Formats: sequence, structure tokens, C-alpha cells
Amino acid sequence: MSIDTLLSESQRYGSDERFVLLGGGNTSYKKDGVLYVKASGSELASIGPKGFVKMDLARMDSIWANTYSSDDDEREEEVLKDMMACRLKGEGSRPSVEALLHALLPFSYVVHLHPALVNGITCSVEGKRAIGRLFPDALWIELVKPGFILAKIVRQRLAEQKELSGKISSVIFLQNHGVFVGAESLEEIATQYDEILKRIDAQLVRRPDFTPMGIEEKRRVAIVASLEKLTGEKVVSAMNREFSRYLATVDAFAPVASSFTPDHIVYSGFKPLWVGEGESVDEAFAEYEKLYGTEPKIVGVQDTGVFSIGEKPLPLFFDTVRVSVYTESFGGPLFMDEDMIQFIRNWEVEKYRASLPKA
Ligand SMILES: [Zn+2]
Repeated sequence: MSIDTLLSESQRYGSDERFVLLGGGNTSYKKDGVLYVKASGSELASIGPKGFVKMDLARMDSIWANTYSSDDDEREEEVLKDMMACRLKGEGSRPSVEALLHALLPFSYVVHLHPALVNGITCSVEGKRAIGRLFPDALWIELVKPGFILAKIVRQRLAEQKELSGKISSVIFLQNHGVFVGAESLEEIATQYDEILKRIDAQLVRRPDFTPMGIEEKRRVAIVASLEKLTGEKVVSAMNREFSRYLATVDAFAPVASSFTPDHIVYSGFKPLWVGEGESVDEAFAEYEKLYGTEPKIVGVQDTGVFSIGEKPLPLFFDTVRVSVYTESFGGPLFMDEDMIQFIRNWEVEKYRASLPKA
């Protein structure tokens, strides 16, 4: 086994949309006291050797002896600084925000993904119970802040498991997020993922029907023109049988009208804009901006179609719909709560600020 195998497997998961979309998900490998973990900002599908950061595992473990601020922003900043200091000499990239979690899982390989099928459970009302029933050996983690807090809670749970049974879970399901799988080989991980998807798929009472439908051309062109003028971005549209169910009324839209996971917020916005029959797109857009202080990335127009500001939000909106349909098999959809949505939104702003060149 080598880093090459990790690279090809990472690319395979990254290019398979059953597992992950756009920049989501991350992988890692541990050898001789060194953690090779995906760098923040690199995408699994196209990852190369430079997409991994080498980190000192012993030093990462010493992070647990530190105390950090109780203020979210301060804590994230302090932890990031300590994490950066754990990189081996010469490493320039920033490690994934989940690097600490990768480090503490006692497996040579860890693959973290956001499969829509898995999120059909983790973002459902019966999530915890369904996981307990289908995957009795797995660990369930309730909705917690990603990064340091998530790693801290998983660390506590694993310690409790170990004390109780002497064993720990190699599969960890995270509410409103996805799943971590660890093993001594990538083959074992692949087998685990196949089994996870198969077992969930067998429970489904309904699957999404994305059979394409047309949008009346004159109306489509008018909406695209309005949105392009408002945003200065390329606007793309989509309509299909599944979307048409959600676009029938504002109530029908509710099961896709918020955010299931952090990735959905990052790529398709925390909340799509709903435009009802007879309402003006321009007015609804302006009202949204005034209310939330940000522009929508997805616009759903009643009985018409879905419009995406830029090309990136659209695949994540398809994912929202897919997840929402899957949740019907597990008691219905459960979005992240308002506090968490707010935390992720602030975090995004911080990350964006951090990426700007210093004046
Ligand atoms: Zn993730």
C-alpha cells in the first residue's frame, strides 16, 4: 500500500456522484507517525500528490491537552494555528478542517464522504433510530459544529466505547453531514461503502424521478435575463418530474427549502428563493437580499423551473432533492437547525476573508 493507491481511490470516490459532489469529502492515510490528509481546497476527483498535507500525528495528539476559547471564532482561529504548526517542514497547504478527526481514528486509512443515500438517513427525522437498526456496530454523532468540536465529541465517544466493550466503531455516521469509514486497507473501505449503500437502498420506499421536462422558452429566457442582470453571473435552469412536485406550491417546496448539510450551504446557499405564481422575480430577489443580507444561489419558480446562479449550485440542489426524497423512507426531512446554519454561514464568511490577500 502506498500514497499512490490512496490517490487513485480518492479520485475514484471523488468522480462518483453517488459518493460526493464538487469539493466535498476527504481521505487520509497514516504511516510511521505521519498523517497524509487532504488539503483544504483540493477536490478528490482531481487530487494529486500535492493535494495531501503531511502532518505529525504525535503533535496533533498533543492538541487535546490544550484549552481553547469558548468563543466560536476565536477557538477556530486558535485551533487552526495549532493545526498549521503540526504540518511537517516544507508543507505549504492548509489541512482539511476535519484533519483532527482523521488523526484520532486508529485506522491506517480513513475515507469521509457525503453520499446522498447516507444523508437520506442522517438528514431524516428517524436518523438515529434508523442507523441503530441498520448499522448496529456504527457510531451515531448528533448535529455538532464541524472541525474541532466534532473531533472532540467523536474522541469522547470512542473512548467510552473502548471502555465499555474494548472495541470501537470503524463506521461513524454524522447527523446532517455524511459518514467516516476507517480500515487497514482501502479494499476493506470499498467493501464497507458498497455494503452501506446497498443496505440503505434496500430500505427506500421512493426514488427521485429526474426525467427532464421543458420550460416554456419565452418565460425561461425572461427569468434568466432578469437573474443575470441582477447577479452579473451566468444563470442555468433545470426542470424535471421531481422538481415539478416540489414547485407545485410553497408548501410542497418546504422539504427542499433549507440546508441539509454544510456542503449544501457552501455550494448552493443556505436557502433557495421561492417565487410564487404571478410574483416578480426581481422583487422577490430584492426582498430576499434585504431579509438575509446575501443573494440566493438557487431560485425556484412555481410550476416553472429551478434557476441556478452560476453552474455550481445546481448539482447541490439536485442533491438536496435526492436527499429529501430518500428521507421519506426514514420519517421525512430534518434540516440543520438555525444556530448551526448561522455558524456555518459565519464560518464561510471567515474563510472567505482569510482567503483575501492581506492589504
Ligand atoms: Zn464532510
